[in-house]
Parts: sequence; structure tokens; C-alpha cells
Amino acid sequence: MNVHDTEYMASLLEKAGYVQTRFPQEADIYLINTCAVRQKAEEKVYSLLGRLKFLKRKRPNLIIGVGGCVAQKEAERIMAKMPHVDLVFGTHQIYRLLEFIEKIREKKERICCIDFNYELEPPCDLFPIPRESSVRAYITIMQGCNNFCTYCIVPYVRGREVSRKSEQILAEAQRLIDRGVKEIILLGQNVNSYGQDRTDEISFPELLRRLDKLPGLKRLRFITSHPKDISPELIQAFGELETLCEQIHLPVQSGSDRILKRMGRKYTRSDYLRKIEALRKVCPNIAITTDLIVGFPGETDADFRQTLSLLEEVQFDAIFAFKYSDRPPAKAVSFPDKIDEKTKAERLTEVLNLQKPITEKKNKAKEGKILEVLLDTHSKRNPDQVAGRTRCNRIVNVQAGLEFIGKLVEVKTKEALPHSLRGEVVKVLG
Ligand code: SAH
Ligand code: SF4
Repeated sequence: MNVHDTEYMASLLEKAGYVQTRFPQEADIYLINTCAVRQKAEEKVYSLLGRLKFLKRKRPNLIIGVGGCVAQKEAERIMAKMPHVDLVFGTHQIYRLLEFIEKIREKKERICCIDFNYELEPPCDLFPIPRESSVRAYITIMQGCNNFCTYCIVPYVRGREVSRKSEQILAEAQRLIDRGVKEIILLGQNVNSYGQDRTDEISFPELLRRLDKLPGLKRLRFITSHPKDISPELIQAFGELETLCEQIHLPVQSGSDRILKRMGRKYTRSDYLRKIEALRKVCPNIAITTDLIVGFPGETDADFRQTLSLLEEVQFDAIFAFKYSDRPPAKAVSFPDKIDEKTKAERLTEVLNLQKPITEKKNKAKEGKILEVLLDTHSKRNPDQVAGRTRCNRIVNVQAGLEFIGKLVEVKTKEALPHSLRGEVVKVLG
């Protein structure tokens, strides 16, 4: 989502005549898009802002702006403590970026704007299509979140759920396809509840069905789904829709029912396992990845073992595991029995060590197979190599020239590495 928001900011500025530079010391505007989901991400923003003080001293006309979730959360503190920051803009204000910058240039005054805006269609509706001429593109289909999981800051910094009109989404998808996009990734904190905030909208599975019918689209994906809202209709879609890739990211967070309850996730371990089973029944090759939090307040050793046993039971293709961190004003900040840093670190290592061979085994199972790959990047280290993703979302490197970028091909995989596959192109599909 942040990658997409950043592309949007860049395209707004480029439309107004600005160009990107790779050298910060040359920049007239330095914008930081930020993530507040874990404490570490927020700390990084502060340390970068600290360093920028020196750049501003050398170049007083430099405009420094901070946007996104940390801006939303920390606006007051940044404005008070960091006089070298000229602009703080919140998650609902991205579309006004140019207006803010022009004002700062003209009036030489600092601007802070973090209002939530529910009057217009969601601000993401105003996003122009980024200039990137990639074959893969994102579409934000909804903003915000209503779930208030007790550890999570997202509902506070991104606001309530607002879905875009399906008409707009379909029109944007068509424009992207007309420009050569072959794969579309739908974005939202909880895409399964798409449309539920409007009386006149179709369901998420229906949106998928309509997108699937657009001529020229080859692949469709979405992130992220909440396990409690995965409906039988959505599961069915994996068996029916040709473009819907055999892949789902389904954050489980914990394997312990006691912890899931305290997290406010509204499903049990067995609910989750039943959904996995149903997905695999409809789509046996589906790649399933997840997010996990270790060291949630009150997580006992027995709770943690439940998470480990869930990993063994499900056999995820890959996991993203995080140490719990307090994110005020999220509810869990006031929960008792906080877990110490050392235990969190040990649990994280244990989880990763358990998963590593599972991920490797799953990758290894792809060796020698013919897989459809959408090639979209060239390797920076090896100029004669290009890379892309399989439908199951694995990265594949192949020996091929730049003319292959943008092509959908069949690759015979030769070797599975820990985080990618290597193979050779056997057929060009288009
Ligand atoms: N909307 C998505 C997740 C968004 S946050 C969903 O519901 O799945 C991305 C991930 O960050 C979460 O899945 C969770 O694993 C992690 N996360 C969120 N808050 C956290 C916290 N306070 N400490 C550690 N990890 C956290
Ligand atoms: Fe956060 Fe839960 Fe919403 Fe995901 S569903 S963004 S974890 S509150």
C-alpha cells in the first residue's frame, strides 16, 4: 500500500514538472512516506529526520515533507520538535500534496494537515495512474479499517473503512490494461469487507468476477484478507476465475485461541484451519503465506507452542513474523503481562527456524516444473538476467535479454534458492 501511495505522490509531482533524483543533496523537495505499524518503522523515520537537519542547514530552501501513518500519528510532535520539517500531511491528504508544496514555496510557511476526509469519495479515488510503465499495477479498492485488532494502529492512522465505487475500480483497471498492464493487485487492509460500507455496492467476490472478465487481464491478486471474513463465495472464486492467481496472504497472527481472543481477531484456530482446508480443496496448488506476532502481552510458553504447532500443521509457503510492539493508542498497550525483549527475540528466532525448512521444501517442490512467469524486472547485478513472478508469487530469475521484460512466459525451473527460483524460458505466451 505504501509503495503504491509513494508511486502516486511521485506521479503527482512529475505531472507538475518535477523530476526524481537519486542524490538527496541535489533535491529541492525531500518527501518521506512513512509506516507506523511497528515501533521500529517509526524509529527509522525519526532517525532519518534527524539526519536531514544537516542537509537543511546546508540548503535552507530544501522543502522537507513527511506523509503517511507516522505523519498522521506524530504530527504534533514533529511540528513542535523538528523545525526543519516544512510539511506534515496525513493519510487522507496525499492528494493535496502539490497544493501544499506550492503554498510552502509562495508563503514560506510550514504546513500541517492531518484531517480525515470522509466527504469526498475516498481520496484514493483521485489518484492518477502512476507513470511507471510496468506490466504489474496496484489498485487501492478501499481505505481504512474497522476491525480494531487490539495490537494494531492502522484504524487510528488510516481511519474507517471506505470502499471505492466498483465502477471506478473497473474503469481504472481497464485504463491500466489498455496501457499494457497484465497483472493487477487489489489493495485494502481487509479486502473481504469491500462494499459493506455502502448500500449500493457489489461484494468482493463479485468485484473479482467482473475484473476477471476484462479482456486482456492475465492475472489478478489481492492483499490483505482477514480470516474471519473469508466467505465460501470467495473461496469458490479460486476454483472458478481464470485470472485469480493461486496465492493468498492470510494473516493468522497466533495459533493460540486465548491469544487470538485477546487480539480481538474474532476467529479461532480451528476456524482458520477449516478455511485453509476449504481453500486447498478448491485450489490444491494454492500458495498460502501469513503474518505472525510473537510476544503479544500475556503470551505464555504454551500459547507460543500453539503458534509453532500451527506452522507445522498448515505448512505455509512463507511467513512474515514480528515481535509485538506497543502502538499507542491501540488497546493492547494497557494489557498486563508484557513479554520481555529477550523472550520475544528468542520466540522470533524459534518461529523463523521452524519455518525455514518448510519454505525451502515448498520451493524445492517447484524444481523441474514448468511455471507461468510474468517477467517484469531486470537484475541489477546480472545484466543478462531478468526476473518475474509465478502465479504462486515466487520470484524467478531467468537468463534472458531486456526485450523479455513485460512478457508472460513459461519457465522450466532448474534450481530452488532460499528466496527465489532459477530457470529457463521454454515458451513465450504473450
Ligand atoms: N490489515 C492486515 C495487516 C496490516 S498490519 C491484516 O489484518 O492482516 C501488517 C502486519 O503487521 C500484521 O498482520 C501484524 O502481523 C503486524 N503488526 C501489526 N501491529 C503490530 C504490533 N503492534 N506489533 C507487531 N506486529 C504488528
Ligand atoms: Fe490492523 Fe486488524 Fe485492521 Fe489488519 S484487520 S489493519 S491487523 S486492525
